[in-house]
Amino acid sequence: MAKVVKAIRGMNDILPDEAHTWHFFEHTVQKWLNMYGYRNIRTPIVEQTDLFVRSIGEVTDIVEKEMYSFVDHLNNDSLALRPEGTASCVRAVIEHNLLYGGPQRLYYSGPMFRHERPQKGRYRQFHQVGVEALGFSGPDIDAELIIMCARLWKMLGITGLRLEIGTLGSAESRAVHRARLIKYFEQHVKQIDEDANRRLHTNPLRILDSKNPEMQSIIAGAPKLIDDLDESSRIHFETLQHILREQCVDFEVNPRLVRGLDYYNRTVFEWITDKLGAQGAVCAGGRYDGLIEQVGGKSAPACGFAMGVERLLALMQQCGSEITHPVPDIYIAYQGELAMDYAWKAAEFLRNENCYVILHCGGGSFKSQMKKADASGARYALVIGDDEAKAQEVSLKPLREAIDQARVSLNVVSELIST
Ligand code: ATP
Ligand code: MG
Repeated sequence: MAKVVKAIRGMNDILPDEAHTWHFFEHTVQKWLNMYGYRNIRTPIVEQTDLFVRSIGEVTDIVEKEMYSFVDHLNNDSLALRPEGTASCVRAVIEHNLLYGGPQRLYYSGPMFRHERPQKGRYRQFHQVGVEALGFSGPDIDAELIIMCARLWKMLGITGLRLEIGTLGSAESRAVHRARLIKYFEQHVKQIDEDANRRLHTNPLRILDSKNPEMQSIIAGAPKLIDDLDESSRIHFETLQHILREQCVDFEVNPRLVRGLDYYNRTVFEWITDKLGAQGAVCAGGRYDGLIEQVGGKSAPACGFAMGVERLLALMQQCGSEITHPVPDIYIAYQGELAMDYAWKAAEFLRNENCYVILHCGGGSFKSQMKKADASGARYALVIGDDEAKAQEVSLKPLREAIDQARVSLNVVSELIST
């Protein structure tokens, strides 16, 4: 036998049973995005590596260690599989001049790629839904993004999520803070780890995001950005909190909330669960007023977030969310030559009437066909023998209720399904 070819580690197949849940999720998300007036943007999965280096930042985990970048040997281009969606979205908005028509509420969804150690809730190909509001500068849109998340959790039946918010201030206040941080970590240079040492002068803010337990007490003592905040960032942050309180969205201010991407300023936020072990972040985002200019566009403010679909689906399961998915209305079983022609006719007729129909294929006894009908989850079986076919009727058998089989016409069947 030939050697079995397997999927790539950390990249999952989504099988039909599971795909039901994905469909329910996607359907709900679609409805939710429509409610808030966000429009879809679809960008390629591969971009120039430079786009991500310039946007996410050179000294970040994603760019340093997690990005699938490669040389396209056909033309020597340096390309990368997208590790996230914001950079691509911003690239497309600039390229097609979308902000010319005013601010844009956009969303995207699809696979992202990061070369991480695969574990529960952490994959090398995973999926995100990302929402981006470009061209808006006020805290109102920051609030909208957060409030809409709270609604989605309800729609998905997810409970117990914690919202943490923080602010990174303006570029100027971050520069002041940065200098204070460098000074602080220089004073503790003997106690900080190799990663922190390397980032000390390039990206000291990221040291605050270290997962190393031995670093935590030093991090706890570091200066807080909130104390260096500029006046307009402070007002922005307070207005955001005011709107959230008015809307009864609970939150905690986390002065240490640093995102793993360099492009954020002012508002940052994260929705976290304790129900998924170490992989607790299900949705994260913030404001990125400098990014559009940084990747070559005309300066414009923006804010957005991305959620991890696999983690949300796992959480829905934990929360026992009720997942509804379409089951077939009808399974058609038939036997005999006349019956075959009438079965085909019946199936297409009922589909014209918007019924979900599975037509049995592969022959076999009525008994074995009825077993398949039952397993399909269909509400009714239509049994067609040559007798029924001659009479242009079907035997209708309810599969989920204890009601007797009855001979009826197709019109009766379609009426029954539509009520
Ligand atoms: P983490 O701290 O868990 O590594 P992150 O800060 O790198 O997350 P973001 O870049 O903010 O994550 O991406 C937004 C969301 O995408 C995360 O909150 C998470 O739900 C999901 N996500 C990120 N990386 C992965 C991954 N490798 N596998 C599955 N989901 C992921
Ligand atoms: Mg990460």
